[in-house]
Amino acid sequence: MEYQTLPANSLVAAAVEFLEHLYNLSRDLNTPEIQPPSPAISGRHLQVCTTRKFSISGLTKLPRMYFSPRNYLPAILGSSGINPKDWHEQQTPLRRAWLTLFMRRYDLPEWPAGQRSLGQLDINSTISYQTDKTPRAIGGTVAELHGREALSADGESMVDSLAVAKKEYMQEGVSRLFKGTFNGGAFSSLVLKLIKHLSSDIDFRKLTEERKANAVVNNLVQRGFNPEPMPHVVCMAGTASETRHAANCSIDGTPHKEKASPTMCNGCINGWTNDNYLRDVIAERDRCLAGSQDLSLTSAERKSMVATSNQLSQVIDAQCKLSNEMKASIGNIISSWRENSPMKDFK
Ligand code: SF4
Repeated sequence: MEYQTLPANSLVAAAVEFLEHLYNLSRDLNTPEIQPPSPAISGRHLQVCTTRKFSISGLTKLPRMYFSPRNYLPAILGSSGINPKDWHEQQTPLRRAWLTLFMRRYDLPEWPAGQRSLGQLDINSTISYQTDKTPRAIGGTVAELHGREALSADGESMVDSLAVAKKEYMQEGVSRLFKGTFNGGAFSSLVLKLIKHLSSDIDFRKLTEERKANAVVNNLVQRGFNPEPMPHVVCMAGTASETRHAANCSIDGTPHKEKASPTMCNGCINGWTNDNYLRDVIAERDRCLAGSQDLSLTSAERKSMVATSNQLSQVIDAQCKLSNEMKASIGNIISSWRENSPMKDFK
């Protein structure tokens, strides 16, 4: 099954693939093989383990039910010698415990690797797993219990370096927009609108392109925009309040980035892409097209690949169209800067 577009790390994907393989080997007679959901994104709500109640009418007549592992957690913890009450019968402590092992067992723990292993989109969520949320009594703090006091300081300095790197990334994006290179994603239109607005200020027009880009980025950062790289797009949502409601993945005004996918993010006001992303989406589309012709795959898998390649083609067309519009608009703005330049008569 295709999990590439889902926010699961490779270990989870391999485990699910293995379980599906076991299911297919041991399924009942006349029961079809497990099929990839189409579109693939609908598979996010599927669970591998299902159950059915016995009844006189027979098993097959009754629908399968998914069961929540949360209900079985106390039994699993209990059989491992852990008192479930210590963890309030929650799953979150499992993730915290995993990160504790990950970050303290190795000599060179890396926060981004820990973040990836948990499938979290924001590094701050990962760091908070190893930080005291409320003041704790002496002897009970995370650092005292687990050692390595420098861990949260490491995390803080890494967050600072990330903030600098993200600003540089945005600066490069705005400079690329000035240069007229490929700039997809509806966030480009928001940046363009801002550049138009700033261009009404004579002091802004006098700046070099590099300093103009810097002024644009400072404005975006102040408004809460923050780049979050994803496999198919950079999500700029950050904490900006003005685009929260309009985000394609928004529920009740809150973006749900876990729902991100090429189609979900296509046309979203917070989505920003460039030619590198475009190349990846084209490669993925071509891979699906090749897969759709691969006779070693089941017809359902090939059908799913055709559907995905069609969706990706629509994304590519939309991105290219938008980028061409951006190119034309930024060209006009740059010409207006030159026309209004005090140096224009000294050429
Ligand atoms: S839909 Fe928009 S806000 Fe949501 S993850 Fe994608 S780009 Fe970000």
